[in-house]
Amino acid sequence: MFNEGTERPFTSELLTEKRKGFYHCANCGNKLFSSEAKFDSGTGWPSFSEALPGAFKTKVDYSFGMKRIEYHCAKCGVHHGHVFDDGPSSTGKRFCNNGLCLLFIPET
Ligand SMILES: [Zn+2]
Repeated sequence: MFNEGTERPFTSELLTEKRKGFYHCANCGNKLFSSEAKFDSGTGWPSFSEALPGAFKTKVDYSFGMKRIEYHCAKCGVHHGHVFDDGPSSTGKRFCNNGLCLLFIPET
C-alpha cells in the first residue's frame, strides 16, 4: 500500500458495492468518501465525484511524463489515487481510487 503502484483494474470488489455507507482509509480509518459520490467510471477502479472535506491532501505528480494530481490520506499519508477533471457530475471531478486502500462500512 505504501508504494505508488496501482492494482490491476477490475479486481476490486468495491466496484460492485452499491450499498449506502462510507469509504474509509484502509490504513488508518479516516473517513474519505460517501457512497453518494461513487459512480461507475468504466475504468475498473472505484471512482468518486467528490471527497469528504479535509479527507485528502493533494500534490502534483509528474511521473510517466504526465501532469496529474495525486491525492493521499490527510491523516496517514497513504497514496489513494489520482483526481481528474473529466468527471460526469456537477463537481467535474473524478477521484480514481485504488480499491485496496479503501474500507467500505455500510450504513446500518
Ligand atoms: Zn489514512
